Amino acid sequence: MGYLRPFARRVAAGVSIKFTAAVLELMLPLLLAHIIDDCVPSRDAAAIWRAGGLMMAMAFGAFFCNVTANRMAAWVSMEVTRRLRRDVYSRVERLSCAQMDRFSVSSLVSRLTNDTYHVHQMFDKVQRGGIRAPMLVLGGLVLTFLQAPALGAVQLAVCSLTFFAIWLVTQRGIPHYTKAQAAVDGVVRIIRENASGVRVIKALACQGRERSRFEAANGQARRTEETAAHVMAAANPITDLLLNSGLVLVVAVGAVLVDRGQLDAGRIVAFLSYFALIQTATLGMAKLFVKISKGAASARRIEEILLAPQDQTVKPGRAVSGPELGMEGVSFSYLGVEKDLDGASFTLDRGETLGILGPTGSGKTTLVSLLLRLYDAGEGVVWVGGQDAVSQSREDLRGRFGVVFQNEALLNDSVYENISFLRGLPREDVIAAAKTAQAWEFIENLPEGLDTRVDIRGANLSGGQRQRLLIARALAGKPRVLVLDSADSALDYRTAAALRAAIRRDCPGVTLVVISERIASLKEADRILVLEEGRITAQGRHEELLASSPRYRSMEKLQMEDGA
Ligand code: ADP
Repeated sequence: MGYLRPFARRVAAGVSIKFTAAVLELMLPLLLAHIIDDCVPSRDAAAIWRAGGLMMAMAFGAFFCNVTANRMAAWVSMEVTRRLRRDVYSRVERLSCAQMDRFSVSSLVSRLTNDTYHVHQMFDKVQRGGIRAPMLVLGGLVLTFLQAPALGAVQLAVCSLTFFAIWLVTQRGIPHYTKAQAAVDGVVRIIRENASGVRVIKALACQGRERSRFEAANGQARRTEETAAHVMAAANPITDLLLNSGLVLVVAVGAVLVDRGQLDAGRIVAFLSYFALIQTATLGMAKLFVKISKGAASARRIEEILLAPQDQTVKPGRAVSGPELGMEGVSFSYLGVEKDLDGASFTLDRGETLGILGPTGSGKTTLVSLLLRLYDAGEGVVWVGGQDAVSQSREDLRGRFGVVFQNEALLNDSVYENISFLRGLPREDVIAAAKTAQAWEFIENLPEGLDTRVDIRGANLSGGQRQRLLIARALAGKPRVLVLDSADSALDYRTAAALRAAIRRDCPGVTLVVISERIASLKEADRILVLEEGRITAQGRHEELLASSPRYRSMEKLQMEDGA
């Protein structure tokens, strides 16, 4: 609601215009009754023209008022939604990784798109119908009651019945629509999975299985939609039935009153008009309630993001200074059940290379995520640049790093933009980074060099080319610490070796953290950590580990045989 405050004047003006339009609309049946009952019997043509002209003027007046007010309402609700989306987006950007995990990326996306849409609809419809519909219902009822209480009672009864019936149907229908939406989410998820894994699916010839998985989800979506449609199918016919029965009742009661001489015939026409007006407005109000209940549910989901606490604050940390990079008894768990990193300790000086070796799921990426403070360590101290990581601002800390993670995204933009990555770096720096990353040779041979467009997810590049572009991106920011998480897995041994040599030659003083499952990539490291199930089971230089760790020795032997 706070979002509407800056537009209070505009909303008030819109609502007043709507109010005027409703008053004009309510006057029309009265004028009609006046023409039929007073002007026609006296055959006063001039009076008929006058009253008719006034009716036309009022009808046009109401039309212009409604159009103007609707436009103002649309403007306000669009602007409110834009601001809301902007704020949610910037909050999402600042969510910690732990919070991201808790919300899940797909839920964040649907809150940013679907839920903001429902809030938009709510604001729009409330401004457009929130005043008009109740006013038409109330005004119509009061005017009818004043002139013929019996007819007023009939209208009130039918109108309450309609409202109750629609409310009942929609209350039953909404949960089915929510389920249907979830079923559609399932279909979209499978499409996304298939689109991103299309090569693997084709390569392993599992199109058939994937198609039946899709068919199952699609069928489920159809069934839930069908149930929802079955329930909602009753809504319009019920209103029509009530409207028609109400008309018959009004005419019947009216006829009795005319017969007794208690009512003029023209008034019945006016009451019929009021009746149609009231019924339509009642329908509008019932629909408005649906919009409000959907919008309010969405607003709560959005609020959860906006009010999510800042859980990674800058804290006073250890006063003493520590190593350039290191950990002291660090433990961490994603879900709070079992430790994904357990008692990790190591130190590294500036300009040295750290190698991290271990099977998939052993905690290599987790260790690096803690260095970057993507997550906060549960226990222990993380050292970055000689200071406790928790005592540094997010910008200071992350500004030190250049990172290449597995499966990182490429932009659907030029090669230059993919390396510069919205930092507006000079072209010479981008070229230098590309050269160090062993990427310049293939970039030069692309049709438009640095300006060649990269397809979505880098589909027009090979795996090795994508990896080298990402390495160039990390290098272009001239980081103090460069983290390469399995960044050379798609490179042949010779290119990988040339890459390591080039980084050492072109980036003097850079501290390197290399995650790899290949011992050859880590051989020259000043310190290698061997990780197993979240624990550092051995650490040291290559030769030291060969001498001291049977596990390391057996891995080396295995890889030598594979390589041979
Ligand atoms: P590696 O990089 O060695 O392959 P990771 O550090 O990615 O291993 O994972 C270590 C463990 O933590 C695994 O058991 C993995 O399932 C778990 N894990 C990783 N990321 C998350 C996450 N975001 N939420 C919950 N568990 C996770």
